[in-house]
Amino acid sequence: MRQIDEKLEQIDRDLAAMYGRKVPAPHGDAVGEMIHIILTQNTSDANSDRTFAALRAAYSTWEQLAEANVDDVEQAIRMGGLARIKAARILEALARLRAERGAITLVGIERLPKMEAFEQLTEIDGVGPKTAACVLLFALGVPVFPVDTHVHRVANRLGLVRTKSPAATQAALMPVVPEEITYQLHMNMVEHGRRTCKAARPRCERCLLASYCLAAQAADAERNADRVADSTGGAAVAAAAMEYLASLARFGVKPGLERTAALLEWMRHPERRMAHIHVAGTNGKGSTAVMIERVLRQAGYRTGLYTSPHLQRYTERIRVCGEEISAARFAELIHEVKPLVARAAADPGVGEPTEFEVATAACFSYFAERNVDVAVVEVGLGGRYDATNLVSPIACVITHVGMDHMDRLGNTLGEIAADKSGIIKPGVPVVTSPQEPEAAEVIAAAAAAAGAPLVRVEQLAGPPAASAQSPGLSAAGARVPFELIDVGVDSTRVRVDLTSMPRGKAVELGCGLIGVHQAANCATAVAALELVSDAFPVSDAELTAGIALARNAGRFEIVQTEPYIIVLDGAHNPDGAQALAATMGAVIDRERPRVMLLGLSRDKNLDEMVGILAPHADLVIATAAAHTRSGARDPGEIVAAMAAVGVPGRSVPAEEAVAAARAAVEEIGARSLVVTGSLYLVGQLRAEFVSPAAAEGSE
Ligand code: SF4
Repeated sequence: MRQIDEKLEQIDRDLAAMYGRKVPAPHGDAVGEMIHIILTQNTSDANSDRTFAALRAAYSTWEQLAEANVDDVEQAIRMGGLARIKAARILEALARLRAERGAITLVGIERLPKMEAFEQLTEIDGVGPKTAACVLLFALGVPVFPVDTHVHRVANRLGLVRTKSPAATQAALMPVVPEEITYQLHMNMVEHGRRTCKAARPRCERCLLASYCLAAQAADAERNADRVADSTGGAAVAAAAMEYLASLARFGVKPGLERTAALLEWMRHPERRMAHIHVAGTNGKGSTAVMIERVLRQAGYRTGLYTSPHLQRYTERIRVCGEEISAARFAELIHEVKPLVARAAADPGVGEPTEFEVATAACFSYFAERNVDVAVVEVGLGGRYDATNLVSPIACVITHVGMDHMDRLGNTLGEIAADKSGIIKPGVPVVTSPQEPEAAEVIAAAAAAAGAPLVRVEQLAGPPAASAQSPGLSAAGARVPFELIDVGVDSTRVRVDLTSMPRGKAVELGCGLIGVHQAANCATAVAALELVSDAFPVSDAELTAGIALARNAGRFEIVQTEPYIIVLDGAHNPDGAQALAATMGAVIDRERPRVMLLGLSRDKNLDEMVGILAPHADLVIATAAAHTRSGARDPGEIVAAMAAVGVPGRSVPAEEAVAAARAAVEEIGARSLVVTGSLYLVGQLRAEFVSPAAAEGSE
């Protein structure tokens, strides 16, 4: 088989996977098709359909139309635009048919060899190559390949042709497109051009053809060149920006929104140029945000994702359509915000912004310049006074609330939940993950006070509550029950009952994020997507694919399965440790003996963390994570606490931690190694476990 045939057939297969199979259904009205195609010029399909219907209503036969006055025809087709020109073309074509064939008919043309039929048609005034091919293909079922502007663009981007006009593309492709795929390939290339391979901003990130598309490869090469430039010429600028940002960290976390508000005001509110979904919570908010974003991206929207903290690079926090901001652009944005930081610092009514506030302002500026449709924004800390709380979201999400950052958010679950509920906005729907009763009450009260419809995601069997039986979200809110089906090293299977939501049915999903706790995050993400489905509809297939493709580095990330399993998990508080322990029970504990590489922050309750994690380790290597906010816990204390509950271990410096952990695996013949206790630790060591390419590509 020739190479072009193979390529065309692969394109046909991939497009059919994206848009479905297409079966020809010739309608037989060749003259009508010819007139219809003339009417499609320079207008939308919907408008040309309406114009054609108006013409048919005005003239009951083509003979009657052929006798009509050009002014009358122009009047009948006025709504289609260019009416004078099209009216003249139609009448000329009909006159030519009558003169040459003795009647206004094309009957019998389909019996000619197809190229002869094509040439006869193109000899008619007003009938170009596309019209002739459409008449043959759509009316008479003759497999001749038409090319419109969409097909022309897609064919050139894919590298099938290098042509300047649709007519030239048609001349090149018509002889080579296999007859049996002509109809389907044409239909799906048009659909691809309309929905994905758009003229201005092709959505290559969701295109199955990207691996062999020349345009996508050229764009990749350009991006790689930018990265190289970042890592060479731009490195000094990027380093200076990061140094400046770090210098602001001395202001730590300061309550109040006035500094971010001032920055955004002076930047002319970039955050107002997109829709937002705002995500708070103690644990699971990053994973939930990642899933929401991945599904929206899968559905073709231009997405922004703002998360924190990062694992390896600060720029991981800001992504557009899954792609991390370049170090060079981030440095430029920080440079642009710098004078505004000085202005804020000089204003006693504002004050110097913190590192997170400056990064947040830069992030919104980047999302605006990249024309993001919808941004999924994770709260940095708490909710009420977080810099991100200046967005006007279309939906709010509160994932599981646990005991963390008590020094800033409060000493009870209720106080912490109250702070996180500070993201709830009047009338804006909010979805909450399963909560302890104390937190659930506070969130429900905050939603009621704001008149915000509340969706409760609950791990329950049984039918939805009576108040939520019909699709659509009532003011009283709805319940979204879910069920964890199973969790393995490949996926977490979840059943989410959306009977009370717009989808009106249950869905079963294979979530790409691994963990018992990911079932709740997945159900929460899906419920949030339902809340925004008016503005951002997502099909069942897009939902399934997006949830399956979601990844979140450093959260039960399985980076190796042979010869032993290696898991990286940044659980850094009791809530996260419980989630890790539950998943280890389901996935890892059978892989014994088990080594745990553990580093903790000084501000975490050592005995509580050890109590949760110890049952899942046979040997512990304790180390210190270098960059924790509060400083690292002395590894010797971790070893002592583990020994007190019967788990042997030893402490090592961070730079020796990975080698020591691998040696420990060898020593006891371990079948699993789990690195945990701190996101900073996981970030610090991840590069030693993951290839640079995988690290770059992680979402
Ligand atoms: S990868 Fe991008 S440019 Fe290539 S066909 Fe797909 S959408 Fe078009």
